[in-house]
Amino acid sequence: MKPFDYRAPADAATAVRTVAADPSAVFLGGGTNLVDHLKLGITTPGLVVDVTALTSAEITGRHGGLRIGAAVRNSDLSADHRVRERYPVLAEAVLAGASGQLRNMATTGGNPLQRTRCVYFQDVTTPCNKRQPGSGCSAFGGYTRHHAVLGASPHCIATHPSDLAVALTALDAEVQVLGTTGERSIPFGELHRLPGEHPELDTVLDHGELITAIDLPEAPIAANSTYRKVRDRASYAFALVSVAAALRVEDGIVRDSRIAFGGVAHKPWRAHQAEAVLRDAPANEDTYREAAEAELAEAVAVDGIDGGNGFKIPLLTRTLVATLRDLAGEAR
Ligand code: SF4
Repeated sequence: MKPFDYRAPADAATAVRTVAADPSAVFLGGGTNLVDHLKLGITTPGLVVDVTALTSAEITGRHGGLRIGAAVRNSDLSADHRVRERYPVLAEAVLAGASGQLRNMATTGGNPLQRTRCVYFQDVTTPCNKRQPGSGCSAFGGYTRHHAVLGASPHCIATHPSDLAVALTALDAEVQVLGTTGERSIPFGELHRLPGEHPELDTVLDHGELITAIDLPEAPIAANSTYRKVRDRASYAFALVSVAAALRVEDGIVRDSRIAFGGVAHKPWRAHQAEAVLRDAPANEDTYREAAEAELAEAVAVDGIDGGNGFKIPLLTRTLVATLRDLAGEAR
């Protein structure tokens, strides 16, 4: 491992100024992804700035919703009774991710910033445009089972790994950010980027900007919500596909929905087209399938030496249908 300096500033503003002034500096939160990257040589910072004590570790009520401090541990987030009752999709998404030990360390602010688990990104002996811009993409012609079918580019077909981020996208959460020029809010659905020509950039955050909190808006629909994750083994695995969904059905008609997909794109994928198909349509399997097919009309499968990722398209269709069927049948 390359040696680096370590600092633990007294406040968030100092931490932000310190990182912004040094291109080789990174923030340290729970460290569950960063420490892996330090060991693998994916990240070689000159300075690590510890922010674990600099943002709130509380969940507080705000405008009928909740404000989640960036330092709230994933295990505390999933155990909070307000989250479990009012936003079950979020609690379920957190519990579907990682292991108990990792959830005890990982933070709400850090979890959405974890980086892809593309095997080539993690193998520093292979070309990867995300790790080393301009070097090429080893996934094309390689292993693509875990890669994207929506929104990819010729430069990168990686998927975003966070389950929590998929739920926050469906819930229309807002990210609170502190930078050198002050605070700003970012709609959660706009935090992450598609790869385009710059897959090295995962988010719209500037270097040195720090997530301080994530706000959940008041959302009665979210009380009837759930997270369904399909993966190669029952726990401690990343999603092949996942669905975060909330549904409101009245007299057999879908009146409102919130849907996001995981495991299929470079960012959590908000399914606006599926939501449009569902609105004021009969709550039945034909409608749910039509909604999935509308959202996946532009999906592109990528061949690979492992059989490729084309299976994700019918799998996600079936997963969305099953998720909406459950939500329609169980008013929680
Ligand atoms: Fe790198 Fe993206 Fe290609 Fe994976 S898919 S090798 S992360 S450029």
